[in-house]
Amino acid sequence: MNLVFLGLPGAGKGTQAALLAEKYDIPHISTGDMFREAVKEETELGKKAKEYMDAGELVPDQVTIGIVRERLAQEDCRRGFILDGFPRTIAQAEALDQVLEELDRELDLALLIAAPEAELIERLTGRRVCQSCGATYHVKFDPPEVEGVCDECGGSLEQREDDKPETVKKRLEVNRKKTDRMVDFYSSKGILTEIDARGEIAAIHQQIIRLIEDGPDDN
Ligand code: ADP
Ligand code: AMP
Repeated sequence: MNLVFLGLPGAGKGTQAALLAEKYDIPHISTGDMFREAVKEETELGKKAKEYMDAGELVPDQVTIGIVRERLAQEDCRRGFILDGFPRTIAQAEALDQVLEELDRELDLALLIAAPEAELIERLTGRRVCQSCGATYHVKFDPPEVEGVCDECGGSLEQREDDKPETVKKRLEVNRKKTDRMVDFYSSKGILTEIDARGEIAAIHQQIIRLIEDGPDDN
């Protein structure tokens, strides 16, 4: 099962991708997580990505395509993968096609997770992320048992630098047109499906499973 999750920041791609990856035991590949890890470790990649991320801009295609190309070639992706936050540009989408062709694979589904702007802003500004394991919470919609502490590993929960209100607006602006282009790209290939991301996290998870197992027409 080879999947791409599309949607504006805050739509719930990471939350749903993590649940689905666990259910089907396939890797959840988030370019945002990979960049954040690199920034934390202060690698060359992290140094290149940081200024763009802090400004809410996209990291250049060449860099982003390079890390995804390497990741998809790894052994654990052979049974399938969920790409979250990639592709975001036509150049990335075309490069993904080429990488998959080289690996003799193809995408099964591009899933657009859609939510209204006011909801996205509320989700992004309330998001908290574990500094140790990367698990995602929300202060109101998905709180941890103990405030500020990760249920999974006891790590500390912090707000992402780019989830502060000033950067959130910029990120939505930067991504809006680009997401529309991705929707057109995968629509024309006949593999795009959209789901309404308003509603409980668990209910949306079930909806995505039905979609994958029964196909879009039954949903
Ligand atoms: P994305 O990966 O699309 O940027 P996330 O999965 O990180 O978005 O979700 C953004 C925030 O919204 C997180 O704090 C998450 O806990 C919360 N969230 C995700 N899905 C829902 C939902 N269906 N209802 C309410 N909050 C949600
Ligand atoms: P995300 O975690 O998906 O919200 O991504 C956080 C940040 O990482 C974005 O604002 C970009 O700066 C960068 N990023 C993540 N994925 C991509 C991508 N596919 N192309 C370019 N930049 C990306």
